[in-house]
Formats: sequence, structure tokens, C-alpha cells
Amino acid sequence: MDILQTDIKYITGLGPKWRTLFMEDMNISTFDDLLQLYPYKYVDRSRIFQIRDISTDMSYIQLCGRFVTLQTVGAGPQQRLSAIFTDGTGQIEVVWFKGLAYVQNQINYTDEFMLFGKPSSFGGRLNIVHPELERADRVSISAGTIQPMYNTSERMKKAGLNSKAIQKLMNQMFNVQMQATVNETLPYRLLSEYHLVNRSTALRSIHFPKDQKELEKASFRMKFEELFFVQLGILRNRNVNRHKQVGIKFSESGQLLADFYKKYIPFEPTNAQKRVVHEIWRDLQSGHQMNRLVQGDVGSGKTLVALMAMLIAVGNNLQACMMAPTEILATQHYEGLSAFVKDMPIRVELLTGSTKKKERLLNDLREGKIDILVGTHALIEDSVVFARLGLAIIDEQHRFGVQQRAKLWKKGIVPPHILVMTATPIPRTLAMTVYGDLDVSVIDELPPGRKPVRTEHYFHYKRNALNAFLRQQLLLGRQIYVVYPLIDESESLDYKNLSEGYEYMKEAFKEYNVCMVHGKMKPDEKEAAMQSFIKGESHIMVATTVIEVGVNVPNASVMIIESAERFGLSQLHQLRGRVGRGADQSFCILMTSEKLARETRQRMQIMVDTTDGFRIAEADLQLRGPGNIDGTQQSGLPFTLHIADLARDARLVQYTREIAEKVLSEDPLLQHPDNQCMAMRLNTLKASSINWSTIS
Ligand code: ADP
Ligand code: MG
Repeated sequence: MDILQTDIKYITGLGPKWRTLFMEDMNISTFDDLLQLYPYKYVDRSRIFQIRDISTDMSYIQLCGRFVTLQTVGAGPQQRLSAIFTDGTGQIEVVWFKGLAYVQNQINYTDEFMLFGKPSSFGGRLNIVHPELERADRVSISAGTIQPMYNTSERMKKAGLNSKAIQKLMNQMFNVQMQATVNETLPYRLLSEYHLVNRSTALRSIHFPKDQKELEKASFRMKFEELFFVQLGILRNRNVNRHKQVGIKFSESGQLLADFYKKYIPFEPTNAQKRVVHEIWRDLQSGHQMNRLVQGDVGSGKTLVALMAMLIAVGNNLQACMMAPTEILATQHYEGLSAFVKDMPIRVELLTGSTKKKERLLNDLREGKIDILVGTHALIEDSVVFARLGLAIIDEQHRFGVQQRAKLWKKGIVPPHILVMTATPIPRTLAMTVYGDLDVSVIDELPPGRKPVRTEHYFHYKRNALNAFLRQQLLLGRQIYVVYPLIDESESLDYKNLSEGYEYMKEAFKEYNVCMVHGKMKPDEKEAAMQSFIKGESHIMVATTVIEVGVNVPNASVMIIESAERFGLSQLHQLRGRVGRGADQSFCILMTSEKLARETRQRMQIMVDTTDGFRIAEADLQLRGPGNIDGTQQSGLPFTLHIADLARDARLVQYTREIAEKVLSEDPLLQHPDNQCMAMRLNTLKASSINWSTIS
């Protein structure tokens, strides 16, 4: 029996009431859980400051000296205890608002005291409010050390279960009852190769650090461990599945791809496109089913990559399909792909909800007369049967769930290879962790000659100047998007803003056609409005964010985002991607109110400064943390992180990923005796994790 699995009720001093609080508010029930309650910060009590050196921008500090005056001042709720404290280098006021009698009893003028608190100022004078107070000759375990601070809930604090109480329990459990018999979870060779302190030492140092250096080593070790096991879990799981999942093995890339590359390709692929096609090709040869995610910013040329992959399949005498989330997108893909291969002996067809002569098309598909089928969700209906499906491509992955992907698998005897394409720029480190079941390729380069969209941040009062600019663009024959946030579909206020914006634009630009698109419209009305904009019949489109991901109107050169402060960075970037698709200089205008929080101002500035989707995604991750990135959730992780942080520790995510890959390349199922400790730890983590089933 692992001592770490002991119930916390066996900790001396931890009664049933606290135990319930621990369980209910922090999901802590075992020694192991409690050890993983890591301090959220530390205060350095190894150092004693001098009063003459302190200032209000300092965090918690420790002083040593004597009281020289002590008096009660004010009355009623204003009543307080005010003292002057000196250490020979200066003096400072110390104030208490509560527990006056208790404090008064403790203080005398003869003894030396240790004060511990955060300096502030009142009426221009330095003071410390409610410091911790101890007689210098009776200082507790925490003085002279680095003191950990633990987060607790309000309920816990009320029940006396505060940071200090947890520190005591931790001491009782770890130093008295357990005496540090903590099992190692990493094999010795890894500890030594990557300079990691052992687990027992690390845990001791985290909860009872002696100095800053020891603390750093310890927290590195525990962060490493957490992220490493996340990666190990994901990768091993994939190994287990992969060994089962046979895929169609392609022995050659085929004549079609060769012909396309020699004769028909309209432009030289970028290096990134070449690299990604190569990664796909490697998968297709492997004999295992491909499950690959291709990430590429809007305009990075994912369609060409998709086409080249499909040409490999068709060249191997198999069929391919490509699924898009909406009819408009499917149609655009169909047209784009058909244009690429118009002189090649390939049959491309389109299948959507409104396809006519569906029976004949489905028949031809079943008989293998269609090589590439492009379509919407209609593709996964049961009536759609392929003769020999070899590759399925899904565009804009965040709109399709894992289950829909699984449905595509069933369309062949051997499951087809799956390629998922997304323009949501998720930092690589995060992507490979969140999309545990997918390999990730990144098209991190735009085709040459693109003019980056010029972005400006406007306050509302500059609307007249903006209108003058819009008029110029309209005179040049360009089209304009105006987007309003719609955070909550049922939010009537948002709709009010939208329709007011629509009326305003109609009024301000009388001589032009303005259309409106939003989620509450009937599908055919929405379709009609979209089409009028695509065809250039309307000049200004006022819309909520329903304007289609990936929709391509090269003539649209201005994107106005209203109340831009209400959008996240990734969303702003996606919206901006609607323009900048033609030869003209394009513009993105971020409209906000003048009163902005600092973080919002930073967000706007990042948009103005860069058009690089990955830089924006990194910044988003830094500003908001991984739980908030569009389309991803930290809950996508197999295990909860307690000490590591995907945003702050992004490098370590990458590092541990590589190490986990190496470990598993030598021992894919962790069966070697040396690796038993890791297999066991994975099982423990898996058993205690609620989210495991949601991944892959
Ligand atoms: P997305 O990644 O957003 O789907 P597309 O595949 O629609 O991007 O490509 C955007 C545009 O760039 C298209 O007009 C496409 O023809 C063009 N394009 C793609 N690859 C290249 C390239 N290597 N050189 C020049 N233009 C390219
Ligand atoms: Mg696209």
C-alpha cells in the first residue's frame, strides 16, 4: 500500500469538519492530494528588512524592532490601534482594526518583536496594517525561512483552515507521520540525465523551502513531472490505439501528383506547404491510419496541401472526400479544387443538402466513378457510400466533433486516412497537448507577395473620420464588413446593437446596398444575403460573427469590428482574416470605447502590431491562459495540472514532449522493468482523473 493513498483524516489535527471542507472545496482526500496542493506563492522570511529601506511597492517583508508608542484612536467602526515601531534605522506606523484587546495584551515596550506584513501608505505616511506579530525570542517555524502561502476557500478560512493551518498540517503529515517515504515516479536514468532532484526532496522543498535555489530546483522537478506525464499519457494512449489501427498503406505517391506538380500547379508551393505534404506522405506510407491536424493561418494555402494529399489517394486508385462546415464553404472548395484540376482526368463532384440529381451522383460514387467528393455534413449520411474511400479531409475542425470524425472512418472497410485542417492558430505546444489524438503539422508561412492587412484602433468619437475613409474605399469599388459581437445568442441587447448599426450604415451610405446577416435569420434568407455580398451586389455587410469562417470575397478590403474589446485575440484575428485576400491593400478597424482596461489596450495593440496568427495566439495564451483559448479547453488535458502552467511553461511542454517521445520510442507500452514506476504513476493519475474518457 502506497502511503500517499492514505486518507487525510489520519493526519493528527485534521478533524472531520476540515476533512469535509478539503474534499468539497478542493477535491483533496489523500496524502497525495494534499501534497499536490502547491503554494500559490512564497514570502521570504529568511531576510529581515530595515525600516529605512522599505517602500510601498514591496511585497511582504519582515522587520525586527521595538514598539515605542501604542494607543487606541477614533471611535465606533473607525476605532483602531495605532503603534509606532522602530528598529534604529527609522520608524513606521503599525495599525490594527480588529482584535485590539488581543494585540494590546501581546505588546510591551521592552521586548523585541518580529513584524511581518505588507507596507502601504496612508496620508503620505508609511504604515503596515495587520501584520503578523511574534516576540523575537519565540519565533515559529516559519521565521527565518521562505514561507509558503496556500490558497483556501472563504469557507475554509472561516473554519480556521487558512494558509497557516495548512502549513501546520503539511508539517504534521510530511515530517512527522510520513517521514518522507515518497515513491519515485521517474526512473533513475531520467533523473540523472535531466538533472532532476528526487521526488521526495522536491516535495519537501516545495512545502518547506530552505532557500530560493532549492525551491527553484524543486518546482522545476514537479513541473517537469506533471507535464511529462501528460505527454506520456497522451502518447502511450496513442501507441496503444495505433498498434490496433491498421491503415491503408500507399506504396507510391502516384502519377497524378507527379503530373500535377510538373504541368498544372499554378504556383510554386511555399516551403511550409512542401514540408506538410511531405509529413502527410510519410503517414500514408506507414501502414497505420493517419490522423493529422494541419494548422495554417487564413490564406496560408491549406487547399493546395489538401489537394496534393487527395491526388496521392486518387493516384493510388482510391477516392477522397473533403468536408466543410457550411454550404458556402463547400461550394467554394468545390470551385477552387475543380479549377486546379480542370485539365486532369479527375472527376470532382459537390454534395450538399441542396444538390439536385442526388441519386445519380450517389450511384456514381458507389461505383467508383467519382474521384473527389466535396460536401457538407451531407457526406456523413448513411446513404453516401464510397466504392473505396482512401482519404477524408475535414476543413475547419473546430466545428466537427470527434464523433463526426469517427463516422467518416466507417465509410471504408479499412478506415480511411483522416486529415483535419484548421485556421485556428493554436500555439504548437498547446496544440500537441490538446489534440492528443492527432499529429500536428503547421503551415507557418504565407505565400509570397501578400500585403499584410493594416490594422488601426479607433475610438468611437472618430466615426466621422472613419466614414470618410469608407466612402473612399467604396468609390474604389471595394466592399466592407461591419461585425458586431454576439456573445450570447439570446442576448437581445446585442441584436439591438446590430440592427441599429445596420440602420446607421443604410442611412450614412444611402447610395450603396447594405445587407445584414445574423444567426437568427432563416437559412435561405441568410444564404441570399451572403450570396448578394459574394456576388458584389451589396457593398456593405453588417453581420454578427456568423459570417462564415473561411468565406472568400477578395474584393472586400475593409473589416470593421465594433466593440472590439469584447472579442478575444484569436477571434479578432479570425475576423481580420476575412479581408486581405485580394491584390489591394486591406484594412481592419478595431472600434472600441475610450475607457479600456490595460489588458484590453494591450490586446488591441497586439492586433495593430502583428498579423502573425501564431504570435497572436501566443500572446493570447499569455494574457488569458490556456483555458480560454478559442476552441480549446484545458480540460482537454488527460490530467489536471497543479503546478505547471501551459502558458508560462510552454518551453517545458515542448521539452517534456520530446523526452516522452524518446522514452516511448524505446519502450512503446512501458513494459521494461526500469519503466514500471512510470507505468504505475500513469495508472494512478488515470484512475484519479475525470477527464480521461473525453480525449480520443
Ligand atoms: P487557406 O489556408 O486560408 O484555406 P487557401 O488555400 O484558400 O488558404 O489559399 C489562399 C490563396 O492563396 C488562394 O488564392 C490560393 O490559390 C493561394 N495560394 C496558395 N498557395 C500558394 C502559393 N504557394 N503561392 C501563391 N499563392 C498561393
Ligand atoms: Mg480554407
